[in-house]
Amino acid sequence: MSRTVVYNFERRKNVVIAVHCGNKLGNKKSYAPPPAVLRGALECIICLDAPASPIHRCENGHITCGICAENVALCGICRTRLQVSVLAERLSRQLDLTCNCPNFYTGCVSPIAAAYVKDHLANCYYRDMMTCALSRQEPLHRCGDKIPIGFRDYSEHLQTAHGVEFVEIFDGEWTSRDYFCPMDGDEFEAAEAPSIDKVIKKNNQTFFFHSHNDGEQYRFWVTMLGNDKEAEKFTFQLKISGEIDASRKVEQYSIPVLAYYDYSKSTEGELATKCVLIPPSHFALFGAKRDSYPNNYFFLRFDFTLQSQQTRLPV
Ligand SMILES: [Zn+2]
Ligand SMILES: [Zn+2]
Ligand SMILES: [Zn+2]
Ligand SMILES: [Zn+2]
Repeated sequence: MSRTVVYNFERRKNVVIAVHCGNKLGNKKSYAPPPAVLRGALECIICLDAPASPIHRCENGHITCGICAENVALCGICRTRLQVSVLAERLSRQLDLTCNCPNFYTGCVSPIAAAYVKDHLANCYYRDMMTCALSRQEPLHRCGDKIPIGFRDYSEHLQTAHGVEFVEIFDGEWTSRDYFCPMDGDEFEAAEAPSIDKVIKKNNQTFFFHSHNDGEQYRFWVTMLGNDKEAEKFTFQLKISGEIDASRKVEQYSIPVLAYYDYSKSTEGELATKCVLIPPSHFALFGAKRDSYPNNYFFLRFDFTLQSQQTRLPV
């Protein structure tokens, strides 16, 4: 079955387009590619891309996409009023138009359905940080008034506003972080706020080393500033070691790296497989005391690295 759409754009010749719909006999769908002339006529006059919904048009039919329309009151060409175009919306959906994400230049490079750009933006892996993970970090509250923070600027922000340490590591290299934990008998003395303790750069990707002592146990996990597909290419390795009964004991953990925005979506049960959980007993067992600290403080070093799939594969 085929349907014929006849449409007249701005005094051009009538354009006749055959749009092939599902073939009922073969139950196969075949679509004609969006005709260039129709796609061109639907282009946003501001961003020159296929129009994100809700598509607007002016009194003279010039198209402004739903993203650009948020910033202008009148048509950029003829200065007449804008309103949503039901016809353009229908055509965009029927032709499955795709466009670039507004976050294209911060890394969101896969084409997205023009009709669903706004839904995509709410979950885009490359969107700005609407709330900095450390905005409530005691005692300074240093960045509460500076949101949103650009996706690309977030690593820099963590370093400059919160003093988070930065390290670049190469294949096979490890980095470390020391924790000093006050204990109350066999338990942690107090819970602490979740924290980002290190910004790590590896293979041109940016990772964050997170920790959270919730009073019962210490969680450690790593997120990547990017999408889930890229994050899946890495695993986070963490190890602790200590002298126990006159011999050196090492415990090593391996967990997946998560996209930055995915960590908070995990349920409590899932988190157990996405974090390294260190109980208070490990601080007492593997840790050591330091002369300069009160007697109930235990010092424990965590060594960690990121391993990419490529480096794990046999040569
Ligand atoms: Zn636009
Ligand atoms: Zn216009
Ligand atoms: Zn995006
Ligand atoms: Zn901040």
